[in-house]
Amino acid sequence: MNNATPTTTYNEVHDQKVLEWARNLLDQCSSPRLMQLEVINAVERNAVYRGEECLNLLAPEAPTSPTVRKLLSAEVGTRAAEGHIGPTARWFAGTKYIDEIESLCVELLKKVFRCNYADHRLVASMIGNMTVYAALTKPGDNIMTISQPLGGHSSNRIDGPAGIRGLNIYDIPMDPVDLVVDLDKFAAEARKIKPVLVTLGASMTLFPFPIKEMASIVKEWDGKIFFDGAHQLGLIGGGQFQDPLREGACIVTGSAGKTFSGPQSGIIIWDDPSLTKPVTDVIFPALAATHQVNRVAALAASAAEFLAYGEEYMAQIVKNAQALGKELHDRGIKVLGAHKGFTTTHQVILDVKSFGGGLEVAHLLAEANIITNKNLIPSDRPEDWDYPSGLRIGTIEITRLGMKESDMATIADFIVNILNGRENTENVRKKVIEMRKSFNKIHYCFD
Ligand SMILES: *Cc1c(COP(=O)(O)O)cnc(C)c1O
Repeated sequence: MNNATPTTTYNEVHDQKVLEWARNLLDQCSSPRLMQLEVINAVERNAVYRGEECLNLLAPEAPTSPTVRKLLSAEVGTRAAEGHIGPTARWFAGTKYIDEIESLCVELLKKVFRCNYADHRLVASMIGNMTVYAALTKPGDNIMTISQPLGGHSSNRIDGPAGIRGLNIYDIPMDPVDLVVDLDKFAAEARKIKPVLVTLGASMTLFPFPIKEMASIVKEWDGKIFFDGAHQLGLIGGGQFQDPLREGACIVTGSAGKTFSGPQSGIIIWDDPSLTKPVTDVIFPALAATHQVNRVAALAASAAEFLAYGEEYMAQIVKNAQALGKELHDRGIKVLGAHKGFTTTHQVILDVKSFGGGLEVAHLLAEANIITNKNLIPSDRPEDWDYPSGLRIGTIEITRLGMKESDMATIADFIVNILNGRENTENVRKKVIEMRKSFNKIHYCFD
């Protein structure tokens, strides 16, 4: 090859060994065509492994329907369509059918979330959160958000959009056992800090938030509640969680690819007409330009699925999570929120400190094709990020594959037998692959 890759390692953030693997592989390819083939092969390996042979229990993942997946590679994904919907508000001509696709998407989202306004152009929920901070705060403002060990997400902390906006970020006091906001402490602290914005919603999220009570407190100084529903978005749409807009939040963001089970991207919804201009001024032209119309089409299609199946699908996700929490608890595992019925969402949170911590357990379970993630829990410090005590489990994908409460006992056995050393991971891996053979079809869709 004449364009040999450099051998020096710079200040690379990625794992050096993995990048070196890729360099070596590309160096062995005799043509760019073969390099492309290596990419396709890696995608195919993942499709077999994660798509057919794993129990994917990652809380932020959901399988999309075949129709939604097909739309993601539609011709329209090669078209440019910056701006707002309609012939005068676009930069480019030739967008009449794109206007149709996008307006169908917006109106479908309004139906699903029973709201006055929705935007379809956010390529990620991170961008949605940046939109909210840019539209509703100015640098130097005080805000209150949830710290990471209590479930908060980096997007609302110093290292994410909230930090980039230059906000002063204070912690929302949480009860570490009940895993809800400590309302008395919040009232006292908020009255001192007077945050312009209080961000609720979390990545580790088991129980509802006292939005109504908090909204009436921050109203004393005209503060607002923003609900980051990245995880709960589908549960909200399907009527299986609290309804933040109805309870006093002025704006809600969420990930389309978590419980909502659409294409990975962001959604933002609001009811107050006075927010429309500040919010959409930030979306375009600040944070979205060509916003992937293939993804918008897929989002619209998944919203239609949601209207038909959302309620039933989301209810089963929660039932499965509660059943899995109970089965694990009954087998002696420390499950957070056990005294409160384990969970009211798609998540189950385990304290696995006595088994070596979240990182070790997640990698051990992955040897058996059971995919989870390490998670900070209230007993951890923020700096325990790499080696936290918790493990987060989600029931979205297994539910969409058709599993019910009775299947949760089987999964709990797999997990607990590995943790207790009663069964080796290779044995369980074979059983997992066998189990997946009877759960390989996407439910709650028209396909
Ligand atoms: C996942 C998550 C996000 C980011 O969402 P993306 O769609 O991945 O950009 C934001 N906030 C919370 C609370 C999350 O859990």
